[in-house]
Amino acid sequence: MPSKIQPLLDKAVAGIRLTVAECTELLESPDVARIGVAADEIRERRHPDNVVTYIIDRNINYTNVCNVVCTFCAFYRRPGAPDTYVRTLDQICEKIDETIALGGTGVLMQGGLHPDFGIEWYEELLRALHAKYPTFQLHCFSPPEIHNIHLISGLDYETIMARLKDAGLYSLPGGGGEILDDEVRQRVSTKCTTDEWLDVMRAVHRVGLRSTATMMFGIGDDVSHRVKHLQRVRDLQDETGGFTAFIPWTFQRENTALGRRIKDEPTGVDYLKMLAVSRLFLDNIENFQSSWLTQGLKLGQVALRFGANDMGSIMIEENVVSAAGAHNRADEKMLRYLIREAGFTPQQRDILYARVNRTIEVPAKDAVPEPANLAVLLS
Ligand code: SF4
Repeated sequence: MPSKIQPLLDKAVAGIRLTVAECTELLESPDVARIGVAADEIRERRHPDNVVTYIIDRNINYTNVCNVVCTFCAFYRRPGAPDTYVRTLDQICEKIDETIALGGTGVLMQGGLHPDFGIEWYEELLRALHAKYPTFQLHCFSPPEIHNIHLISGLDYETIMARLKDAGLYSLPGGGGEILDDEVRQRVSTKCTTDEWLDVMRAVHRVGLRSTATMMFGIGDDVSHRVKHLQRVRDLQDETGGFTAFIPWTFQRENTALGRRIKDEPTGVDYLKMLAVSRLFLDNIENFQSSWLTQGLKLGQVALRFGANDMGSIMIEENVVSAAGAHNRADEKMLRYLIREAGFTPQQRDILYARVNRTIEVPAKDAVPEPANLAVLLS
């Protein structure tokens, strides 16, 4: 049966850029299967070798002290609260050693917005880690943390990024994007504005570093806010070309003030549609990541047919979204199994999506995980 949205999908598949109105129409359409087919076609064209990548790394959270309030966050603790922490250098090195032992190539390190940490604190940390692990990729901090350094140290974003790069920073995660529209942001958070987030990313790219871009939806946003988010990411990518990947996921509500207030939450169909439309609209971004951590391993696997070409991280450690109820977990064997069962060749990558050649200690054919593990991991 002909579909109303088919001409838009044909247009995107033909490589013609979608407008904001067309993006809105797609997100409002219930025809998710058709949208997925188009996104899969574009994924295949951009990544014709049938490879789906994944990374071995962990999220290290150097502190949970945070001096702003985000009502969607279950991780932060106010300065002075009894259960605050700041990880020592030894603790961080121990986590890096464990990551390297599992074949990891880098870490994603982020923390709350600590009121006392100026640029010197971050430089010292990076220099110490870079000296000890010169080839290990330090994918650290996020625009809100960089904005916090700007407030504490009084330096502009570009100077901060140049200094952090010099100290050993390899790339910047796209955290804290949530929804890039102040109407939504200001309702749920007191952290940096949309323009400040984008300005930090502009500075990151100007000093020659790459970053990812993320989106967390389901925080009181509607389709118009989601489209504005995509538009802002696409515009900046046109300007700088610095984003390596786009990673959408849904708000995790457990233990959060916002979760107690918001009635609706995005469904699996909402997630798949958002991912697929992102692939169609963001024609200038190469990689799209499945968020199995928030969607579960099964839906995370299905996402590979809705535009994603990357299965993300095995996530040896994660503390932020798991505090808000995302308890999914996987190991390398499981991710490789899911990728292969979806019809692709699994391939380890590094932070910048370069392929990592390493002897993998799982059977060459990626045997099915032990039944007991399968039950636990897929539950
Ligand atoms: S999301 Fe980040 S900035 Fe917001 S409260 Fe949590 S730790 Fe702080």
